Amino acid sequence: MVATLLGIVVSVVLSTAAPVPAQEYPNKVITMIVPFAAGGPTDTVARLIGAPMSKTLGQQVIVENVGGAGGTIAGNRAAKSAPDGYTILIHHIGMSTAPALYRKLPYKPLEDFEYIGLINEVPMTLVAKKDFPAKDLKELIAYVKANKGKVNYANAGLGAASHLCGMLFMTAIQTDVTTIPYSGTGPAMNDLLGGQVDFMCDQTTNTTSQIKAEKIKVYGVTSKKRVPSLPNVPTMDEAGLKGFEVSIWHALYAPKGTPKPVIAKLTKALQVALKDTNVKLRFAELGSEPVAENRATPEAHRALLKSETDRWAPIIKKAGVYAD
Ligand code: ASP
Repeated sequence: MVATLLGIVVSVVLSTAAPVPAQEYPNKVITMIVPFAAGGPTDTVARLIGAPMSKTLGQQVIVENVGGAGGTIAGNRAAKSAPDGYTILIHHIGMSTAPALYRKLPYKPLEDFEYIGLINEVPMTLVAKKDFPAKDLKELIAYVKANKGKVNYANAGLGAASHLCGMLFMTAIQTDVTTIPYSGTGPAMNDLLGGQVDFMCDQTTNTTSQIKAEKIKVYGVTSKKRVPSLPNVPTMDEAGLKGFEVSIWHALYAPKGTPKPVIAKLTKALQVALKDTNVKLRFAELGSEPVAENRATPEAHRALLKSETDRWAPIIKKAGVYAD
Protein backbone atom coordinates (compact mmCIF):
# COMPACT_ATOMS: atom_id res chain seq x y z
CA MET A 1 0.00 0.00 0.00
CA VAL A 2 2.72 2.43 1.09
CA ALA A 3 4.79 1.34 -1.93
CA THR A 4 1.80 1.98 -4.23
CA LEU A 5 1.22 5.39 -2.72
CA LEU A 6 4.89 6.22 -3.07
CA GLY A 7 4.70 5.09 -6.66
CA ILE A 8 1.84 7.47 -7.29
CA VAL A 9 3.65 10.35 -5.61
CA VAL A 10 6.83 9.66 -7.57
CA SER A 11 5.00 9.40 -10.88
CA VAL A 12 3.07 12.61 -10.18
CA VAL A 13 6.30 14.45 -9.36
CA LEU A 14 7.97 13.03 -12.47
CA SER A 15 5.08 13.88 -14.73
CA THR A 16 4.91 17.51 -13.57
CA ALA A 17 8.69 17.93 -13.75
CA ALA A 18 9.22 16.31 -17.15
CA PRO A 19 9.08 18.71 -20.08
CA VAL A 20 6.06 18.28 -22.31
CA PRO A 21 7.13 17.06 -25.74
CA ALA A 22 6.74 20.02 -28.10
CA GLN A 23 4.46 18.11 -30.46
CA GLU A 24 2.00 17.64 -27.58
CA TYR A 25 2.04 21.32 -26.69
CA PRO A 26 -0.35 22.73 -25.68
CA ASN A 27 -2.38 20.20 -23.75
CA LYS A 28 -3.76 22.53 -21.09
CA VAL A 29 -4.80 26.14 -20.52
CA ILE A 30 -2.19 28.84 -21.22
CA THR A 31 -2.02 31.87 -18.94
CA MET A 32 -1.21 35.24 -20.47
CA ILE A 33 -0.05 37.59 -17.71
CA VAL A 34 -1.16 41.19 -18.21
CA PRO A 35 1.03 43.57 -16.19
CA PHE A 36 -1.79 46.03 -15.49
CA ALA A 37 -5.34 46.00 -14.14
CA ALA A 38 -8.30 44.77 -16.16
CA GLY A 39 -10.06 47.23 -18.43
CA GLY A 40 -6.96 49.13 -19.57
CA PRO A 41 -5.23 49.20 -22.95
CA THR A 42 -2.81 46.30 -22.37
CA ASP A 43 -5.69 44.17 -21.10
CA THR A 44 -7.72 45.09 -24.20
CA VAL A 45 -4.93 44.02 -26.56
CA ALA A 46 -4.39 40.78 -24.59
CA ARG A 47 -8.04 39.79 -24.72
CA LEU A 48 -8.35 40.72 -28.39
CA ILE A 49 -5.46 38.53 -29.54
CA GLY A 50 -6.08 35.85 -26.87
CA ALA A 51 -9.32 34.70 -28.51
CA PRO A 52 -7.91 33.83 -31.96
CA MET A 53 -4.71 32.49 -30.40
CA SER A 54 -6.85 30.05 -28.38
CA LYS A 55 -8.45 28.89 -31.60
CA THR A 56 -5.14 28.25 -33.36
CA LEU A 57 -3.55 26.57 -30.35
CA GLY A 58 -6.60 24.43 -29.55
CA GLN A 59 -6.35 25.44 -25.88
CA GLN A 60 -7.75 28.38 -24.03
CA VAL A 61 -5.47 31.37 -23.49
CA ILE A 62 -6.68 33.01 -20.30
CA VAL A 63 -5.70 36.44 -19.04
CA GLU A 64 -4.34 37.03 -15.54
CA ASN A 65 -4.03 40.65 -14.47
CA VAL A 66 -0.98 41.22 -12.26
CA GLY A 67 -0.79 44.98 -11.81
CA GLY A 68 1.57 47.09 -9.72
CA ALA A 69 4.95 48.86 -9.87
CA GLY A 70 4.48 49.98 -13.48
CA GLY A 71 4.27 46.42 -14.79
CA THR A 72 7.46 45.17 -13.11
CA ILE A 73 5.70 42.84 -10.65
CA ALA A 74 4.27 40.94 -13.60
CA GLY A 75 7.59 41.08 -15.47
CA ASN A 76 9.31 39.45 -12.52
CA ARG A 77 6.58 36.84 -12.09
CA ALA A 78 6.78 35.87 -15.77
CA ALA A 79 10.60 35.75 -15.77
CA LYS A 80 10.50 33.27 -12.88
CA SER A 81 7.65 31.08 -14.18
CA ALA A 82 8.20 27.55 -15.48
CA PRO A 83 9.59 27.71 -19.03
CA ASP A 84 6.99 25.33 -20.42
CA GLY A 85 4.86 27.56 -22.64
CA TYR A 86 1.94 27.63 -20.22
CA THR A 87 2.81 31.06 -18.85
CA ILE A 88 3.41 33.90 -21.26
CA LEU A 89 3.53 37.65 -20.75
CA ILE A 90 2.20 40.54 -22.77
CA HIS A 91 4.08 43.76 -22.11
CA HIS A 92 4.72 47.09 -23.75
CA ILE A 93 7.46 49.67 -24.14
CA GLY A 94 7.87 49.46 -20.35
CA MET A 95 10.11 46.42 -20.84
CA SER A 96 12.66 48.73 -22.45
CA THR A 97 12.39 51.58 -19.94
CA ALA A 98 12.31 49.56 -16.69
CA PRO A 99 16.08 48.80 -16.59
CA ALA A 100 16.84 52.55 -16.55
CA LEU A 101 13.99 53.43 -14.18
CA TYR A 102 14.47 50.69 -11.58
CA ARG A 103 17.86 50.46 -9.91
CA LYS A 104 17.00 47.07 -8.45
CA LEU A 105 14.96 45.53 -11.22
CA PRO A 106 14.86 41.82 -10.25
CA TYR A 107 14.92 40.56 -13.86
CA LYS A 108 16.69 41.41 -17.09
CA PRO A 109 14.34 42.07 -20.01
CA LEU A 110 17.08 41.37 -22.55
CA GLU A 111 18.24 38.12 -20.95
CA ASP A 112 15.52 36.43 -18.95
CA PHE A 113 12.98 35.79 -21.70
CA GLU A 114 12.28 34.08 -24.96
CA TYR A 115 10.75 36.50 -27.47
CA ILE A 116 7.54 35.44 -29.23
CA GLY A 117 6.91 38.49 -31.38
CA LEU A 118 5.74 42.09 -31.63
CA ILE A 119 1.99 42.72 -31.66
CA ASN A 120 1.10 46.31 -32.46
CA GLU A 121 1.97 49.95 -32.35
CA VAL A 122 -0.37 52.45 -30.78
CA PRO A 123 -0.17 56.18 -30.08
CA MET A 124 -1.19 57.92 -26.88
CA THR A 125 -3.52 60.82 -26.26
CA LEU A 126 -3.25 63.59 -23.72
CA VAL A 127 -6.68 63.72 -22.07
CA ALA A 128 -8.34 65.45 -19.12
CA LYS A 129 -11.53 65.23 -17.12
CA LYS A 130 -14.54 66.69 -18.87
CA ASP A 131 -14.71 69.95 -16.94
CA PHE A 132 -10.98 70.67 -16.99
CA PRO A 133 -10.62 74.42 -17.60
CA ALA A 134 -8.48 74.32 -20.78
CA LYS A 135 -9.86 74.04 -24.28
CA ASP A 136 -6.64 73.25 -26.15
CA LEU A 137 -3.07 72.18 -25.51
CA LYS A 138 -1.72 75.74 -25.18
CA GLU A 139 -4.33 76.53 -22.53
CA LEU A 140 -3.64 73.22 -20.78
CA ILE A 141 0.08 74.00 -20.57
CA ALA A 142 -0.60 77.51 -19.26
CA TYR A 143 -3.09 76.17 -16.70
CA VAL A 144 -0.80 73.38 -15.49
CA LYS A 145 2.09 75.82 -15.10
CA ALA A 146 -0.06 78.32 -13.19
CA ASN A 147 -1.66 75.67 -10.94
CA LYS A 148 1.08 73.09 -10.52
CA GLY A 149 0.38 72.65 -6.83
CA LYS A 150 -3.27 71.88 -7.51
CA VAL A 151 -3.49 69.70 -10.61
CA ASN A 152 -2.72 66.00 -10.59
CA TYR A 153 -1.77 63.49 -13.23
CA ALA A 154 -2.84 59.82 -13.28
CA ASN A 155 -0.51 57.07 -14.41
CA ALA A 156 -0.09 53.33 -14.13
CA GLY A 157 3.08 53.53 -12.03
CA LEU A 158 6.75 54.15 -12.71
CA GLY A 159 7.57 52.34 -15.95
CA ALA A 160 4.09 52.46 -17.44
CA ALA A 161 3.57 54.09 -20.81
CA SER A 162 1.37 56.67 -19.10
CA HIS A 163 4.29 57.44 -16.80
CA LEU A 164 6.70 57.76 -19.71
CA CYS A 165 4.39 60.10 -21.64
CA GLY A 166 3.74 62.20 -18.51
CA MET A 167 7.45 62.39 -17.77
CA LEU A 168 8.17 63.60 -21.33
CA PHE A 169 5.33 66.11 -21.12
CA MET A 170 6.44 67.53 -17.77
CA THR A 171 10.04 67.72 -18.99
CA ALA A 172 8.88 69.50 -22.17
CA ILE A 173 6.92 72.13 -20.24
CA GLN A 174 9.45 72.22 -17.38
CA THR A 175 6.78 71.75 -14.75
CA ASP A 176 6.30 68.89 -12.32
CA VAL A 177 2.88 68.02 -10.98
CA THR A 178 1.70 65.45 -8.46
CA THR A 179 1.24 62.04 -10.02
CA ILE A 180 -1.27 59.49 -8.79
CA PRO A 181 -0.23 55.92 -9.58
CA TYR A 182 -2.81 53.23 -10.34
CA SER A 183 -2.43 49.52 -11.03
CA GLY A 184 -3.44 50.24 -14.62
CA THR A 185 -5.03 52.97 -16.67
CA GLY A 186 -8.36 51.09 -16.66
CA PRO A 187 -9.00 52.20 -13.06
CA ALA A 188 -7.28 55.55 -13.77
CA MET A 189 -9.80 56.17 -16.56
CA ASN A 190 -12.65 55.50 -14.10
CA ASP A 191 -11.29 58.22 -11.84
CA LEU A 192 -10.81 60.60 -14.77
CA LEU A 193 -14.44 60.01 -15.75
CA GLY A 194 -15.47 60.60 -12.15
CA GLY A 195 -13.38 63.78 -11.96
CA GLN A 196 -11.14 62.51 -9.11
CA VAL A 197 -7.99 63.11 -11.19
CA ASP A 198 -7.31 65.91 -13.66
CA PHE A 199 -5.38 64.57 -16.64
CA MET A 200 -3.40 61.68 -18.05
CA CYS A 201 -1.78 60.36 -21.18
CA ASP A 202 -2.97 56.98 -22.34
CA GLN A 203 -3.14 54.76 -25.39
CA THR A 204 -5.92 55.38 -27.92
CA THR A 205 -6.97 51.79 -27.19
CA ASN A 206 -8.33 53.07 -23.89
CA THR A 207 -9.33 56.62 -24.70
CA THR A 208 -10.99 56.54 -28.15
CA SER A 209 -14.49 55.58 -27.06
CA GLN A 210 -14.49 58.07 -24.15
CA ILE A 211 -13.24 60.84 -26.48
CA LYS A 212 -15.90 60.04 -29.06
CA ALA A 213 -18.61 60.03 -26.39
CA GLU A 214 -17.24 63.41 -25.19
CA LYS A 215 -16.86 62.08 -21.66
CA ILE A 216 -13.29 63.38 -21.48
CA LYS A 217 -11.35 66.21 -23.14
CA VAL A 218 -8.53 65.49 -25.58
CA TYR A 219 -5.61 67.79 -26.36
CA GLY A 220 -3.49 65.85 -28.81
CA VAL A 221 -2.37 62.50 -30.12
CA THR A 222 1.29 61.54 -29.77
CA SER A 223 1.77 60.14 -33.29
CA LYS A 224 3.48 61.91 -36.18
CA LYS A 225 0.25 61.92 -38.18
CA ARG A 226 -3.37 62.15 -37.05
CA VAL A 227 -5.10 58.87 -36.23
CA PRO A 228 -7.82 57.93 -38.78
CA SER A 229 -10.25 56.93 -36.01
CA LEU A 230 -9.85 60.38 -34.38
CA PRO A 231 -9.54 62.67 -37.40
CA ASN A 232 -10.37 65.88 -35.50
CA VAL A 233 -7.72 65.39 -32.83
CA PRO A 234 -4.51 67.29 -33.65
CA THR A 235 -1.10 65.75 -33.18
CA MET A 236 0.79 67.10 -30.17
CA ASP A 237 3.14 68.73 -32.66
CA GLU A 238 0.26 70.49 -34.44
CA ALA A 239 -1.23 71.50 -31.11
CA GLY A 240 1.95 73.29 -30.09
CA LEU A 241 4.49 70.88 -28.59
CA LYS A 242 6.95 70.56 -31.45
CA GLY A 243 8.39 67.09 -31.95
CA PHE A 244 6.44 65.51 -29.08
CA GLU A 245 6.03 61.93 -30.20
CA VAL A 246 5.53 58.65 -28.34
CA SER A 247 4.64 55.33 -29.90
CA ILE A 248 3.79 52.38 -27.69
CA TRP A 249 4.44 48.82 -28.80
CA HIS A 250 3.30 45.55 -27.27
CA ALA A 251 4.96 42.16 -27.51
CA LEU A 252 4.66 38.61 -26.17
CA TYR A 253 7.30 37.00 -23.95
CA ALA A 254 7.91 33.55 -22.46
CA PRO A 255 10.34 32.66 -19.66
CA LYS A 256 13.92 31.93 -20.74
CA GLY A 257 14.37 28.28 -21.63
CA THR A 258 10.90 27.73 -23.09
CA PRO A 259 11.60 25.18 -25.85
CA LYS A 260 12.06 26.64 -29.34
CA PRO A 261 9.30 24.47 -30.94
CA VAL A 262 6.87 25.79 -28.30
CA ILE A 263 7.88 29.38 -29.06
CA ALA A 264 7.41 28.65 -32.77
CA LYS A 265 3.82 27.51 -32.10
CA LEU A 266 3.10 30.64 -30.06
CA THR A 267 4.64 32.88 -32.75
CA LYS A 268 2.49 31.21 -35.41
CA ALA A 269 -0.64 31.65 -33.27
CA LEU A 270 0.23 35.34 -32.81
CA GLN A 271 0.73 35.83 -36.55
CA VAL A 272 -2.64 34.19 -37.28
CA ALA A 273 -4.31 36.38 -34.61
CA LEU A 274 -2.96 39.56 -36.20
CA LYS A 275 -4.70 38.64 -39.45
CA ASP A 276 -8.00 37.87 -37.74
CA THR A 277 -10.82 40.04 -39.13
CA ASN A 278 -12.15 41.05 -35.73
CA VAL A 279 -8.68 41.89 -34.39
CA LYS A 280 -7.94 44.05 -37.44
CA LEU A 281 -11.29 45.81 -37.19
CA ARG A 282 -11.05 46.52 -33.46
CA PHE A 283 -7.41 47.65 -33.74
CA ALA A 284 -8.40 50.10 -36.49
CA GLU A 285 -11.35 51.42 -34.45
CA LEU A 286 -9.03 51.93 -31.48
CA GLY A 287 -6.23 53.62 -33.42
CA SER A 288 -3.81 50.70 -33.07
CA GLU A 289 -1.86 49.07 -35.90
CA PRO A 290 -0.95 45.40 -35.94
CA VAL A 291 2.67 44.82 -36.98
CA ALA A 292 3.46 43.15 -40.31
CA GLU A 293 4.02 39.39 -40.11
CA ASN A 294 7.81 39.70 -40.41
CA ARG A 295 7.82 41.76 -37.19
CA ALA A 296 5.64 39.32 -35.24
CA THR A 297 8.77 37.21 -34.83
CA PRO A 298 11.28 36.52 -32.03
CA GLU A 299 14.12 38.18 -34.00
CA ALA A 300 12.28 41.44 -34.73
CA HIS A 301 10.97 41.52 -31.17
CA ARG A 302 14.37 41.19 -29.50
CA ALA A 303 15.92 43.68 -31.93
CA LEU A 304 13.29 46.32 -31.06
CA LEU A 305 13.60 45.65 -27.33
CA LYS A 306 17.36 46.19 -27.60
CA SER A 307 17.15 49.37 -29.70
CA GLU A 308 14.39 50.81 -27.48
CA THR A 309 16.38 49.99 -24.31
CA ASP A 310 19.37 51.84 -25.76
CA ARG A 311 17.20 54.75 -26.91
CA TRP A 312 15.36 55.37 -23.63
CA ALA A 313 18.22 54.90 -21.12
CA PRO A 314 19.89 58.31 -21.73
CA ILE A 315 16.52 60.12 -21.92
CA ILE A 316 15.44 58.67 -18.57
CA LYS A 317 18.85 59.37 -17.05
CA LYS A 318 18.58 62.99 -18.15
CA ALA A 319 15.12 63.28 -16.64
CA GLY A 320 16.61 61.97 -13.37
CA VAL A 321 13.67 59.65 -12.69
CA TYR A 322 14.28 56.36 -10.96
CA ALA A 323 13.10 54.00 -8.23
CA ASP A 324 15.19 52.02 -5.77
N1 ASP B 1 -0.80 50.76 -20.80
C1 ASP B 1 -1.05 51.49 -19.62
C2 ASP B 1 0.16 52.28 -19.28
O1 ASP B 1 1.25 51.79 -19.42
C3 ASP B 1 -1.41 50.64 -18.47
C4 ASP B 1 -2.53 49.69 -18.75
O2 ASP B 1 -2.50 48.97 -19.75
O3 ASP B 1 -3.43 49.64 -17.90
O4 ASP B 1 0.03 53.37 -18.85
